[in-house]
Amino acid sequence: MTDQPTPMMAQYLAIREANPGALLFYRMGDFYEMFFEDAVSAAAALDIALTRRGTHGGEPIPMCGVPVHAAESYLLTLIRKGFRVAIAEQMEDPAEAKKRGSKSVVARDVVRLVTPGTLTEESLLEARRHNFLAAFATVRDDCALAWVDISTGALRVAPCPQVRLGPELARHAPRELLALDGSRLDDIAAEAGAALTELSAASFDSTAAVHRLCVLYGVETLDGFGQFTRAELSAMGAIADYLMLTQRGRMPRLSPPVRESGAGAMQIDAATRRNLELTQALSGGREGSLLAAIDRTVTAPGARLLERRISAPSRDLALIHRRQAAVAALVENARLTADLRDTLARVPDMDRALSRLALERGGPRDLAAIRNGLTAAVRIAALIGGDDPLLAEAASDLVGHDALIDLLDEALVADPPLLARDGGFVAPGFDAELDDTRALRDEGRGVIARMQGDYVAETGVSSLKIKHNNVLGYFIETTATHAERMLAPPLNARFIHRQTTANQIRFTTVELSELETRILNARDRALELERAVFDRLLRAVLDQSARIGQAARALAEIDVAAGFADLAAGEGWTRPLVDDSRAFVIEGGRHPVVERALKRKGEPFVANDCALTDGKTPAIWLLTGPNMAGKSTFLRQNALMAVLAQAGAFVPAARAHIGLVSQLFSRVGAADDLARGRSTFMVEMVETAAILNQADPAALVILDEIGRGTATWDGLSIAWAVLEHLYGANRCRALFATHYHEMTQLAAKLEGVENATVAVREWNGEVIFLHEVRRGAADRSYGVQVARLAGLPPAVVERAREILDALEAGARDGAARPAALIDDLPLFRSAPPAPVPQPRSSAVEERLQGLQPDTLSPREALDLVYELVTLA
Ligand code: ADP
Repeated sequence: MTDQPTPMMAQYLAIREANPGALLFYRMGDFYEMFFEDAVSAAAALDIALTRRGTHGGEPIPMCGVPVHAAESYLLTLIRKGFRVAIAEQMEDPAEAKKRGSKSVVARDVVRLVTPGTLTEESLLEARRHNFLAAFATVRDDCALAWVDISTGALRVAPCPQVRLGPELARHAPRELLALDGSRLDDIAAEAGAALTELSAASFDSTAAVHRLCVLYGVETLDGFGQFTRAELSAMGAIADYLMLTQRGRMPRLSPPVRESGAGAMQIDAATRRNLELTQALSGGREGSLLAAIDRTVTAPGARLLERRISAPSRDLALIHRRQAAVAALVENARLTADLRDTLARVPDMDRALSRLALERGGPRDLAAIRNGLTAAVRIAALIGGDDPLLAEAASDLVGHDALIDLLDEALVADPPLLARDGGFVAPGFDAELDDTRALRDEGRGVIARMQGDYVAETGVSSLKIKHNNVLGYFIETTATHAERMLAPPLNARFIHRQTTANQIRFTTVELSELETRILNARDRALELERAVFDRLLRAVLDQSARIGQAARALAEIDVAAGFADLAAGEGWTRPLVDDSRAFVIEGGRHPVVERALKRKGEPFVANDCALTDGKTPAIWLLTGPNMAGKSTFLRQNALMAVLAQAGAFVPAARAHIGLVSQLFSRVGAADDLARGRSTFMVEMVETAAILNQADPAALVILDEIGRGTATWDGLSIAWAVLEHLYGANRCRALFATHYHEMTQLAAKLEGVENATVAVREWNGEVIFLHEVRRGAADRSYGVQVARLAGLPPAVVERAREILDALEAGARDGAARPAALIDDLPLFRSAPPAPVPQPRSSAVEERLQGLQPDTLSPREALDLVYELVTLA
């Protein structure tokens, strides 16, 4: 006998084939079931039992399933592990299918494709982070990137040459990137932590895109939204196409596309973001990042806006000043700031609620979120006076929703359930029929009791009872003796005999059986009425969605400003002067993250000045000083100062004057780049090349120990040449930390290059780090000092000093290379301690023999010191 698939399996296979590339969640009653390969991989990914069900082609069919009520957490795991999931629901009541015949299968279809970039469920999203879906398109030589957060509805697009794709992805950190089939963006996507989804050329067709976008926005032409290039249309069109595919026709509410010109934001590439730990620490999490240190927002949309600000500080002076003014106004008025923050803390995430509602995935709780959000918005608008332009404008976006608020207030209970399915969210008094229906459902017993009283009065039979059993349902019961009157006219016209038992006679009435039906139907009817109310409220909200979205954005704006103000007031930050000069003057600057970490340990942070003087372009500080002195901290704190200032925030300094920074670059010498585990020197050079090729005169460049990933002479030459190029060709502002003391001579030669050093003090033979940045070059014997501090045996320290002297003498004479010099040095100047050579100390020497100090990174050197200490 051939193994014909069952009708259900045939349906499964058909749906499976129509949805390639995704796990199929196949709804069967209270479960989503998976079969075949899907079952095998899902069972492994979810760590759930793999079973079997029936056979196919003679083989047992692997199967696993997850309960529908708990499906979201399983979905989250699968999405995090890189799966896409197609959800096939039952499209009709199983009873309907039965009516068609015993063999017919419940109609099922995929209602949604769940992918990393298209999530909307609260439980699947991080509240304080955006969830972007991006698309990269190329039309001839023109490229563009579009990105959308369907959980909030924001769609943006910008021109994006392929070389800028990496940095742009780093800025938005999308969860999913759409690209043309075969475009080989795997590495770039992986680097940005985005899942890559390749689509066919049809999805990227720019003519089809116009049509799709018109449909999406319900407009005849896109002209009203501004002008877009073919590549931009193509990228947005691919997003629209993918949303149609994944959302199966239920399109999200998107606000009109906004074209971002690259000119608006400070350019920060991926390496710089990573290195400065703007929104993510090197360890991967948010903790330890600048964002985490400065985030005082109290709403999720505020937190998301802050992340966007920090990811893309502005280059628009007027905008920066407007934002600063709002923060300043709030710093001045601490009472207002506190009141705003108190009220904001209770504002729900209206953006995401609105998006779920538009996608028909929303519930009563989302309606309540809109109600509560708009209600709070009115209170917030009332708090804000008219003095500050930004705040006043935001306030004007918060009002004007009274009719909608009243409707939602009247219609919804205070704390509605998540799902509309089970009812119970419409407030009493809103819908008379619903109230009656509910009364019937809930007070069925009371209604019956009243009816019983009426019948007793009517018949004069005081022992008459209305009872219920499963066979008869509701019935009226009297003893046989009293029944006679009811069996005779006129009462028998009304009381219909149903049953006679040993002692009792049972009746019903038309009224009672109607009541029974009504009680039974009441539950269903109440749900139906509630559903109708839900639909009406949903329409009312969606009609206003654009203005509600505007109110939500205004609230986020106020939240960010109030958060900045709270931070500035609490931490003693000041308003930086930002203008279009080339100044970079900081007095008493601090590193917000390091300072926070030190504070926890009860240690003070030493504030430092930085003065890349205006007027002198380029202006470069060459920073020397021992390891652990605080060079990196100083470099980074100044870069962060620029980010904060142009994000509209106050800065951790006593005074700051910052000329607009167009591009921010930060690189760390290879040996520090341990976290990334790549061929580090090559990476360092590639990244340095990117700076030298790109930095314009308004750029700010931070270079930390560039060139130390190679041997000393190589490294020094590279660092030297890089500095000269920055000075002569890029002509930008730069902070350059190096341990090549030789470079300090450059300051004397190049006008605008100045030496600075992080001070250390030697005290009782120990090095004390003062963390103080001073003008001038470093005292140069620090390496040996640090070695002694680490407990290197005095003989080794002595020897190291001797080798160093010889190397330096050689370098000064300009002749020999280090390898040759080592040959010239007597191997052991001081004999091992008498009388017997200590095997352990010779172990140290053995270890040192043949060692090439120049090839060691500071980290390796430190490791070696530890090793030597154990050998000694
Ligand atoms: P370097 O780059 O010179 O090796 P780092 O900048 O990494 O030094 O600083 C080493 C440590 O010194 C930091 O982890 C921090 O704890 C401390 N430190 C740095 N700068 C300061 C400062 N200005 N005030 C107080 N402590 C500091």
